[in-house]
Amino acid sequence: MTTIKASCPGCGEIELTSDDIRLRVASHAPLSYYQFTCPTCQELVRKPADDHIVSLLMSGGVRAEVWEVPAEALEPKGGPGLTYDDLLDFVLHLGRDDMLAARATAPAHR
Ligand SMILES: [Zn+2]
Repeated sequence: MTTIKASCPGCGEIELTSDDIRLRVASHAPLSYYQFTCPTCQELVRKPADDHIVSLLMSGGVRAEVWEVPAEALEPKGGPGLTYDDLLDFVLHLGRDDMLAARATAPAHR
């Protein structure tokens, strides 16, 4: 079996086999990645995989899994990002309002 050299952020260069690596090729190329569990520190390492890396890994016997990226993941996001305060407010609101889900899904008043 082919030995594939990779690097772990904590351990440096390590050696893997094709079965140790999971390669996911996305329908939106910039989201393609490969991942492995470092045999030394047991950390899960995930790295982007451009076309060159995809070709190298596949030539080393790594099987590629095709990943269809959901369209909503690629939509441009407008407005400010969600903050910790927003999330805390939401959680507090959940705790004091039993009807929140019903109100959120109710048709708007006219
Ligand atoms: Zn490691």
